[in-house]
Amino acid sequence: MARIRRETAVDRTEAALAGYGTTLPLARGAVAITVAPSAAGSPVGQRLLTLLVNELARMKGVVSVINVDGVASVPVLPGVPLEGTDLESGLAGFVASLNAPAPTADDPYEATIAFGETDAVDVRVAIGDMTTNANIVVAADAWRALLGRYAEYARWEASAPYGAALAAALAAPEVFKRLLLANGLDDSDRRLLTDFAFSSFDYGINEDAGAGPDLYELVLRDLAIVGCGAGGSAALYVLAMQPGLAGAVGLVEPGRHKLSNINRYLMTSASDVHDARHKLASAVNHLARFAPALTPTLHPVEWQMLAEHPWPFLLSTVDTVPARWQIQRRAIAGAEILDAAVNDLFYNVIRVAPGGWCLECKHPFDPDYDLKQRSARWGVDVETVRAWATENVVVNAEMITTLAGTQGKEPDDYAALEGKPFRDIPMLTECGETRLRTDVPSQAPVLPLATTPVGVILAAEIAKRSVAPDAQLANWLGHYLDRAPQRPRVVWRPASASCPRHG
Ligand SMILES: [Zn+2]
Repeated sequence: MARIRRETAVDRTEAALAGYGTTLPLARGAVAITVAPSAAGSPVGQRLLTLLVNELARMKGVVSVINVDGVASVPVLPGVPLEGTDLESGLAGFVASLNAPAPTADDPYEATIAFGETDAVDVRVAIGDMTTNANIVVAADAWRALLGRYAEYARWEASAPYGAALAAALAAPEVFKRLLLANGLDDSDRRLLTDFAFSSFDYGINEDAGAGPDLYELVLRDLAIVGCGAGGSAALYVLAMQPGLAGAVGLVEPGRHKLSNINRYLMTSASDVHDARHKLASAVNHLARFAPALTPTLHPVEWQMLAEHPWPFLLSTVDTVPARWQIQRRAIAGAEILDAAVNDLFYNVIRVAPGGWCLECKHPFDPDYDLKQRSARWGVDVETVRAWATENVVVNAEMITTLAGTQGKEPDDYAALEGKPFRDIPMLTECGETRLRTDVPSQAPVLPLATTPVGVILAAEIAKRSVAPDAQLANWLGHYLDRAPQRPRVVWRPASASCPRHG
């Protein structure tokens, strides 16, 4: 009988790539980034480059090498999350931190960076130089990502990091889409961005993308980040690039790292995941190095286990519906919640505001939610699943036959579950929407391509709450990076009349 095994560093990436009809490693995965001198010596250019390299280097097996040209002997500026005196040594040291001392069976691919000119390129990115033959031209100002012809509006000396971060977060999926093309994986529904401007200040696009005011300092108060996974830590990574960041933040996260977290947690190193360190350790380490005036208070437990929930401002960056209900239900009266979610290359953010959607409007509360999910996946009625869970029955061949039929798979695919107590079966193994391995207690297939932009939007919303409250999101933003990257949507979703939490 097959064993349930530990998740590796590449299971989720493999699952994600299966959705594109391919396997790891990609045959063509060389990315070249050319940085114009005006960008290389500037805070906006350096932050854009650093976050873009961070994302691409984590996609081990998808990106085989990143070649950076134009940064030789350029000093690293304050507010850029790299250690080292110059950009080349800083980037090289960072990329090395993503690799174990040697490749292992459960972490088989390495991130690689090189410097100088190269001809061995599958996708070319230009930061700030519109005259090259690059596939993607990218630039930014304080709040705007500026792609293609909009790069002429760049303001490289801006202090606020949100535009640079958004530019990197939009460039990375464009690199990924072009790598798919370079590997012969065409999809007529997939859309490429070339000329595009997007403002994290007012969410306008192209000519209507608002530049917003620059921001030279930010003092955080009242805020807790609930869930320091890929999205929560991405928000913190972007905030940590804000010059003059000070104050305090509560970090609530019970979990330790798994190997697969290396592929999308922006503050996490190979030693963090191989030693299964606590997720909060990565955050504390990053803040100590790059934002020492921000004081994190650590809560290494689940939100509902806390004795008090005093924060008036909450980031909900958890990955299940019941966890969202818990955040909203236990928050103090009047607390403002920003909720983020991703699915493949789609991301969305809700700001829970008076008169608008709350988290129970989005997911109407149901005490049998978990049972109903399991019932749908196992192909039996809710009462049967309730009895299985209550009696903790041993999974037998008949149960597996029904499960396999419901999931459209062969019973052999679920052989690893036979003989196990029902309550020990990883709930997410049963997920019917995604291509999951049944021998791994895995969750969704993920790349860092949606969790990073969601983190940028959250960071921008946190900054605006202090400096420009009128510009805060009202109240829902959604963006399909593969099918409609040129059409991020912002709409007002009114409170549901049937939701018991209003009126
Ligand atoms: Zn509601």
